[in-house]
Amino acid sequence: MKLTDTIAAVSTPRGKGGVALIRISGAEALAVAARVFSPLRGTPLTRDDHAKAVYGSILDTAAPKREPLDDGIATVFLSPRSFTGEDTVEISCHGGVLITERVLASVLCAGARHAEAGEFTRRAFLGGKLDLSEATALGDLLEAQNDNQLKLARSGMKGLLTDRSSLLYARLRSLLASLYAKIDFPDEDLAEMTPEQMRRTVSEVLCDTQALAATYRTGRAVNEGIKTVICGRPNVGKSSVYNRLAGYDAAIVTDIEGTTRDVLKETVSLGRVTLCLCDTAGLRRTADTVESIGIARARAEMAAAELILAVFDGSAEPTDEDNETLHMLSLQDAAVVVLINKADKAEGGMPALVRSHFPDALTVSAKSGEGFEALSERVDALFTDPSVSLGTDPIVANARQYAALVRTAEALTQVLDAMDNGLSQDLYCVDVELAMSALSELEGRQIGEEIVSEIFSKFCVGK
Ligand code: GDP
Repeated sequence: MKLTDTIAAVSTPRGKGGVALIRISGAEALAVAARVFSPLRGTPLTRDDHAKAVYGSILDTAAPKREPLDDGIATVFLSPRSFTGEDTVEISCHGGVLITERVLASVLCAGARHAEAGEFTRRAFLGGKLDLSEATALGDLLEAQNDNQLKLARSGMKGLLTDRSSLLYARLRSLLASLYAKIDFPDEDLAEMTPEQMRRTVSEVLCDTQALAATYRTGRAVNEGIKTVICGRPNVGKSSVYNRLAGYDAAIVTDIEGTTRDVLKETVSLGRVTLCLCDTAGLRRTADTVESIGIARARAEMAAAELILAVFDGSAEPTDEDNETLHMLSLQDAAVVVLINKADKAEGGMPALVRSHFPDALTVSAKSGEGFEALSERVDALFTDPSVSLGTDPIVANARQYAALVRTAEALTQVLDAMDNGLSQDLYCVDVELAMSALSELEGRQIGEEIVSEIFSKFCVGK
């Protein structure tokens, strides 16, 4: 991928719409646009059109006579005051599939190259318009499926995380300067920090790094989601619980046992947590081949889940199978939240048995919605940290950022150990540098080309 030529792509989704937008970016953007776009005012686009929307005809530069293809609006943004930091022209035309393709073809014919996936954002990153965490948050914003994910992405785009990591980086930089001053000029008093101040700096930065890394618990629950399985015997109300969480009738609810034979999946938000939810076939002994395959799949899903919502029918009398299920639940690695369903009906013997195994089981009714607030609070408490506020706190939202912070903390722990054991300063300078290098990965200052490519490849063409 050359990063100096002028690129173009359709930045709106493919399909019929009111308008479509073709974005052109690079040193030749204005020249390319001037070939394609003929302003109604009679004079071509110039640098004086910065931040102006100009109405005119879009010409077919692929045709010999450059016939008009459509009417539209061109908006010019000159470097560095554009999204990419390069000269950019955005042409809006009518949003038909064919007309949009023709306008793009005309722009390409006029001298632009078709952009690759994520190339506009990658140029914005390389041009210093946004750092890597901001670019990643922008990707998350485009992918967001619920309000919490939107909030998290917005906080990432505001640069809250990189503001915090830059601050820590700056503290380590002054520490390193003092360390080198002491090593290189031991007889002169050039170091700004005393050994006590150095130790305190390392210990404070370590503490802040660990606190930042700990926000990943919340960030992951919101952004990546928690793999959740709903399990229980047939007819206890698993599909009804699933539908209540999904907010619509996604699963079939009947009183015929064994209706859910396969695994249904849905992403829903509960409290602040995003659940990647599975409804599974009811667990029971059966001779039905299709149903037993479903039950085997249900067990496999349970083995991979992080959260199991185990549903029991509170109006029923317990059987041996319920005893077995409760025993099996107590052996799971995943977090288990037990729901005693059908609270709107007269209570049977089931709640007493369930509570003897799980005293903190929640009483709910999938029919009336009773108890779901308590379920939401329980799940929040299991997977998020109440002191972390989405939207206003810096939050680690992906595994790459988390791994960088863990490496920073490891290196700083080494430094602290070395200081406490009275080792010579040149022995731990390298660990301070390691910590700085890991920390700077959040902004993408020293990150490898492969990782940058991987991040931007997740964007669509035109972004
Ligand atoms: P599944 O087989 O475990 O998925 O159970 P379903 O969700 O299909 O429900 C089985 C039956 O129980 C249906 O007739 C539901 O209408 C009924 N049901 C589910 N939840 C409740 C509830 O909270 N209260 C009452 N009264 N009935 C429920």
